[in-house]
Amino acid sequence: MNAKEYVNKYKDELINDMMEIIEIKSVREEAKEGMPFGEGPTKALQKGLEIAERYGFKTVNLDNYVGYVEMGEGEDIIGILAHVDVVPEGEGWTSDPYKPEIRDGRLYGRGVADDKGPGIISLHAMRIVRDMGVKLNKRVRLVLGANEETGSACVRYYKAKEGGFQYGFSPDAEFPLIFGEKGGFGGNFSAPLSVDGAKTVIESIAGGVVSNMVCPDVTVYISGEGLEEIKAAFDGYKPHEEITTESSFTDCGKLKLYLKGKAAHASFPEQGVNAISYMIDFLKDHITDSPFVKAYSDLVGLCYYGEKCGAQCEDQYGVLTMNLGVISTENGVATVTVDCRVPITIDFKDQADQVVKNFENAGCTFNVNRLGSSLFIDPESDFIQALYGSYVKVTGDTENKPFTIGGGTYAKTFENVVAFGIEFPGENNQIHMPDENMHLESIYKCCEVFVEAIQRLLAL
Ligand SMILES: [Zn+2]
Repeated sequence: MNAKEYVNKYKDELINDMMEIIEIKSVREEAKEGMPFGEGPTKALQKGLEIAERYGFKTVNLDNYVGYVEMGEGEDIIGILAHVDVVPEGEGWTSDPYKPEIRDGRLYGRGVADDKGPGIISLHAMRIVRDMGVKLNKRVRLVLGANEETGSACVRYYKAKEGGFQYGFSPDAEFPLIFGEKGGFGGNFSAPLSVDGAKTVIESIAGGVVSNMVCPDVTVYISGEGLEEIKAAFDGYKPHEEITTESSFTDCGKLKLYLKGKAAHASFPEQGVNAISYMIDFLKDHITDSPFVKAYSDLVGLCYYGEKCGAQCEDQYGVLTMNLGVISTENGVATVTVDCRVPITIDFKDQADQVVKNFENAGCTFNVNRLGSSLFIDPESDFIQALYGSYVKVTGDTENKPFTIGGGTYAKTFENVVAFGIEFPGENNQIHMPDENMHLESIYKCCEVFVEAIQRLLAL
């Protein structure tokens, strides 16, 4: 039998196994004795390993952080990285997210596509490779993590105990495959909002929710002289069609300014309208002695690519993006978060030092809390071609090519591991959304792709 025939033979078990593990609500909970991510993720991990044992695989559970399923012999290990924890179900489901259901040829349930389903699909792909009698000259390991969605401590635990892989893939994103993920440079900068003796004082600026989103709205309180003029100017401030503003006086005579822009993901800041940047752009013309406002306009302005602070750079796969996500004020000092996504092939270390210096020279303090490396594997390498070739062979799709993203997937934890599947181009699996689902035919096709991929990686 060939791979397709095997998938057809095992497909009922494949779907039943997916349903069995999806039934366990594996959202992160409070840690318990021996359960670092709580009961749900632990039970799902144990269930995944139990299913693998039914098919005769060796399994190892590393303290309920992470486990693995193994077959084959030899030094080299081919890794497959999936996770059994899920994000909360949220509102708006047509059926119970933890009672998987087949409707219109699709399997619905939380975790169908992200990422319990892909874990089970990978397990059956291993089973098929074994049952086809393929020579296992290397070990093949399916790693099941229990905390990808809330920090990936599971795979770091694995790496510390077991090391890395010769080659590997993580079915936790999209087909065809992702051969590059941007690096990260992040932190925050601070400066006083006012100087001593200022006639007009910015008391506070606050806005934003998370550092990896474009700040959607911001509120400023101002006291002192000239407030009527500032209010009148702000009421006429319309720098962008997606911006709305409101202004009012508080009971104690302070001027309150509110500006609403538009949120977007930090890796595409230009798709949003940053409320902080537009608020500062207004303030700079009306309050000229604020150290924070001056530093922000000089070094950030209305830019999305770090043009003013020395962060700007690009390579053939993309440009550096810079996002300002959250602003807060404490004791008259404003602090704003910075989230830069660094082009894949660029070593940013020296440039990061220069960016920090530029902020310091402008009177700010700058705290770096992240300088993460990128992931890049030559798309022409045998490894990438083996995976992409498997995808092309099974799907016949040569139009969609391997691509790069702003980062970061599960794959990034390891060298020589890339995100491969499982959402097919043109499909929407509703990942992290209500009614998460996967077409049954796509489940089978995905399994077939993985059977081919495992064989090709064994042959490298
Ligand atoms: Zn995932």
